[in-house]
Amino acid sequence: MRILLASAGLALALASPALAADCGNTAAGFDSFIKSMEAEAIAKGVPEKSVRALDGIEYDPAIIKRDRAQNIFSDSFLDFQKKMISSYRLKQGQALVQKHKALFDRINKEFGVPAPVIVAFWALETDFGATTGDFDTIRALATLAWDCRRPEKFRPQLIAALDLLSKGDLRRDEFKGAWAGEIGQTQFMAYDYDESAVDYDGDGKRDLRNSIPDVLASTANLLRKHGWQPGEPWLQEVKVPAKLPWEEADIAIRHPRSQWSEWGVTQVNGSPIKGDGFPAALLLPMGRNGPAFLAYENFTSAYLKWNESLVYSTTAAYLATRIGGAPAVSPGRAPVEHLSYDQIRLLQQKLQDLGYDVGKVDGKIGAGTRAAVKDQQLKLGMPADSYPTEELIERVGTGSKKKAKPAATEESGQSTDEGSNLY
Ligand code: CA
Repeated sequence: MRILLASAGLALALASPALAADCGNTAAGFDSFIKSMEAEAIAKGVPEKSVRALDGIEYDPAIIKRDRAQNIFSDSFLDFQKKMISSYRLKQGQALVQKHKALFDRINKEFGVPAPVIVAFWALETDFGATTGDFDTIRALATLAWDCRRPEKFRPQLIAALDLLSKGDLRRDEFKGAWAGEIGQTQFMAYDYDESAVDYDGDGKRDLRNSIPDVLASTANLLRKHGWQPGEPWLQEVKVPAKLPWEEADIAIRHPRSQWSEWGVTQVNGSPIKGDGFPAALLLPMGRNGPAFLAYENFTSAYLKWNESLVYSTTAAYLATRIGGAPAVSPGRAPVEHLSYDQIRLLQQKLQDLGYDVGKVDGKIGAGTRAAVKDQQLKLGMPADSYPTEELIERVGTGSKKKAKPAATEESGQSTDEGSNLY
């Protein structure tokens, strides 16, 4: 379950003229689109032989059906982690850390990424390689690249897949994976595979489908490229006091641990956290009454680049701490109401009407929605923990209004609420 990111290379590809090309939500027009992608690939220097892999590719409505059906990120963090962190994944994860200890030691020495972090992704993405998917990657990417929902994300991935094919790591018939184009045991998108996969068993091929050394080292290498800082923590569960300047609890805001300690943040068992100058953000995935974590730079950079969904990233980072020996998460101070998909959409619509940029009204709480919620909470004199409640929905719009933005921003069709967009 990877999310696509506009890294530097992709951003370059985004500037290509193909973006202006048509898109379609059916097979009509697909063949001429494929011809235009072939021309673009050739123009970008992809060898002709690989580009020919697009010849005769057919539109796959089953991929679009999958795409439209996904809504798992409407779960709250507590529900999602419960669903995703089975006792099997936990136990097997710990067993695999031991089984591959020598390999993980070598990887940690070279890339600085500890075993539990890698194993947690291995667990969540494919159950340690058991479910890598059987969709034809080129066909899946071509279908999603033609689809109108987010061609800007999949067109560069299609070109990257053709380029990857030319490298010879995988044969054409090995280009198989998840419906959204991810390949291998930790589900790399083609661009990341092409740029960041490494051959770690020395057979000359970067095989993320079958070689465990290649999979684990490549995962570490990708995290490192995302900004992983060796030797630093990523996530630590904490306990928050009943009162705190809640507006400081924001993954975009970091304070020294000493500051959090001063504000009353403690370890889960109530003992003090390290009161040093090490910077951390206070992450409250379900608001001030729910679970609480200190999120370090490795979380805000590496994890959120792996997947922009806050719920997924918090779950992956938390699972890594569990595999490393941390106890099960505390549910927090009080039961937290989790808004339904329709309630979140209603709130997003109200916020958009007030002029906030919440991206698409899609029922998913991303960075834009969180920021707007926080702004309204501050204006309404509510605790500004960025977590929406029914009370907020009722009161939104009754405070002072934010000046509306020019309509052009909203008509661009480009969501800026990136945290909410899976794929
Ligand atoms: Ca290899």
